[in-house]
Amino acid sequence: MELYYHSTRNEKERVSASKAILQGLANDGGLFVPESIPALDTDLDHLKDMSYKEVAYEVMKLFLTDFTKEELMYCIEHAYDDKFDTKELVPLKKVDNAWVLELFHGPTIAFKDMALSILPYLMTTSAQKNALKEEIIILTATSGDTGKAAMAGFADVPGTRIVVFYPKNGVSPVQEKQMLTQRGKNVKVVGITGNFDDAQSGVKQMFHDGALKEKLREGGFVFSSANSINIGRLVPQVVYYVYACAQLLKRGAVKPGEKINVCVPTGNFGNILAAYYAKKMGAPIGRLICASNSNKVLYDFFRTGTYDKLHSLDEKAGEFNTDRHFMLTSSPSMDILISSNLERLIYTITGEDTKKNSAYMESLAKEGKYHLSDAEKAKLADFTGGCAGEEEVAQRIKEVFESDGYIMDTHTAVASSVEKKCRRELGGAATLIASTASPYKFLRSVLSAIDEKKYASLSDEALFNEMEKLSSVAIPPAIQDILSAPVLHDTVCETGDMEKEVLKFLGL
Ligand SMILES: *Cc1c(COP(=O)(O)O)cnc(C)c1O
Repeated sequence: MELYYHSTRNEKERVSASKAILQGLANDGGLFVPESIPALDTDLDHLKDMSYKEVAYEVMKLFLTDFTKEELMYCIEHAYDDKFDTKELVPLKKVDNAWVLELFHGPTIAFKDMALSILPYLMTTSAQKNALKEEIIILTATSGDTGKAAMAGFADVPGTRIVVFYPKNGVSPVQEKQMLTQRGKNVKVVGITGNFDDAQSGVKQMFHDGALKEKLREGGFVFSSANSINIGRLVPQVVYYVYACAQLLKRGAVKPGEKINVCVPTGNFGNILAAYYAKKMGAPIGRLICASNSNKVLYDFFRTGTYDKLHSLDEKAGEFNTDRHFMLTSSPSMDILISSNLERLIYTITGEDTKKNSAYMESLAKEGKYHLSDAEKAKLADFTGGCAGEEEVAQRIKEVFESDGYIMDTHTAVASSVEKKCRRELGGAATLIASTASPYKFLRSVLSAIDEKKYASLSDEALFNEMEKLSSVAIPPAIQDILSAPVLHDTVCETGDMEKEVLKFLGL
């Protein structure tokens, strides 16, 4: 049976999976959601003996029902090859009584690679299936990791071009160098003078601009998105949660029937939503722990059922009574106040009511907030929100290094800190922490958490060597690459000039 997708804001815009992938965002500004979440049709006992790629097929075939087996296998085989620096693709490590799922062994050493190494294949296959004539223009806003991973995936892929916008002063030096050294005739990187939310809004605006769309069509182009709103990103992310559950069963970390809590360092809410979908498919997942850094809008939301991007919750008073400011932290990929993918959860907990969801999203756009009803709030019980400030993150990195000799990146440390704080309260047979980046990527923050005085005066290059000594993990090829690669991009623009830059790149 074919699974269709429709917008979170109206049921009438109904498309196949391949069309949803090509289009990225629904025309009404909503996100595509599957009409139902499919149930796993292979039990964990079988999945536990399968390779990552085999599990990927078992999960993805249920969501992308208009792809043939050959097409899906082709995409999976080409995505998960020796671009990854480990044969297991996603190693699981036991660290201080939790299981750390290392999702950062792909070409850009962040978890975005798990989805972005397959998205170009899913997209070009979708273009063929739908006899698309236009060249696909991928437009992406990035808080640091998506941009590089998307460019690495789409570089020199025939029939596509990609433009990435990032906050000029809001990404780590390694992240920026990774982007600015990207090769490929079809790639363009632009720093903007605003923050990530500005970049994301600018991109969304271009997607919704009818006149711009028409202009592109005349030029033989069509926009699509590699952001985590694309279901072609979301579906491949469901895979590793199912795989990890099966592997924990195989290792005897849990017994059949026992539940695994999952803790995810969260920004745009894509990764944790994938874990929620895995749970709905039947994976033995207990609580979903949503870990935020100091930009704790999601923490406040799970506490109260109110999403307020303008005001921050004062827990003692139980009121949103202070202005919320966007903060730059040591975990920049989570510095987000508008979590796009949350809309898919809101849609689900309103009882899949597109009207109610639309009303909430309109309220968010107009007033900067919305309040769930009590009945809706009760349906958030699968989730626990937690947050960790900068000091807690640094302390956790140091503590885990000292207890286990394991070095985690700043994003993973947000999750680990939160996990530790709610461990006793939540119980559960085992907890899985999604580790979203290599510590090499956030080198200076990580090492100064371990010993601020010792490392403060060292250059980045010296720090790479220190990290290698301390972690006993060899400098990843992705880092060796950027140390020698020339900078190829230097465009910076005002937030208001994003469209101009796109048109210039396309020669329109
Ligand atoms: C993108 C990213 C996150 C946040 O993931 P979301 O799916 O946006 O919630 C966390 N950590 C790292 C390293 C990332 O790159």
